[in-house]
Amino acid sequence: MGRRLLMLGPPGAGKGTQAEMLCRTIGIPHISTGVMLRDHVERESDLGRRAREIMEAGDLVSDEIVIAMVDERLVQADAACGFLLDGFPRTRPQAEALDELLARRPLEAVINLDVPTEEVLARILDRGRSDDTEEAVRTRLAVYREQTEPLLDHYAAIVRPVDGVGSIPDVLGRIVRVLAE
Ligand code: AMP
Repeated sequence: MGRRLLMLGPPGAGKGTQAEMLCRTIGIPHISTGVMLRDHVERESDLGRRAREIMEAGDLVSDEIVIAMVDERLVQADAACGFLLDGFPRTRPQAEALDELLARRPLEAVINLDVPTEEVLARILDRGRSDDTEEAVRTRLAVYREQTEPLLDHYAAIVRPVDGVGSIPDVLGRIVRVLAE
């Protein structure tokens, strides 16, 4: 049977990289709202035009928009056999909407990638994406602490903490081990 997973952790913790590698390793789709939104921005769709400035400032796109995107994505055939959500949910309304979307097939594990703030700041500023100005990075971290980190309580029963400091293969190894427990 497939797996229904969620990756949480501050921006810059390496969620995207780890999520992609984990999905390739265990053969489930990687569902990243950040990737979907950046795709809209690149294609200059209506949604992309609305989201661009918000993303550049490090703020959150509206719950309504991202919930609709995930709703559409989760009903696609490949997601029937499991998936890994990355970057969604980021707020309590998103988490509640996801609970409803998944009603009969709830998440089974939440991987919480743990990386200290100083390390996260250094990593993001080094990465240099267009939405990575120092101010935007600080906003993204503050938004994470205020809105997303509290979701760890929502998922308390299924959270699996993973130390996110170390080489990419080392961290992946830790995630795979934790999921095998
Ligand atoms: P990420 O690649 O996950 O860091 O997402 C990049 C940016 O897209 C974020 O800084 C937000 O502006 C926006 N974004 C991605 N996922 C969400 C979400 N679940 N809710 C609101 N905004 C999001």
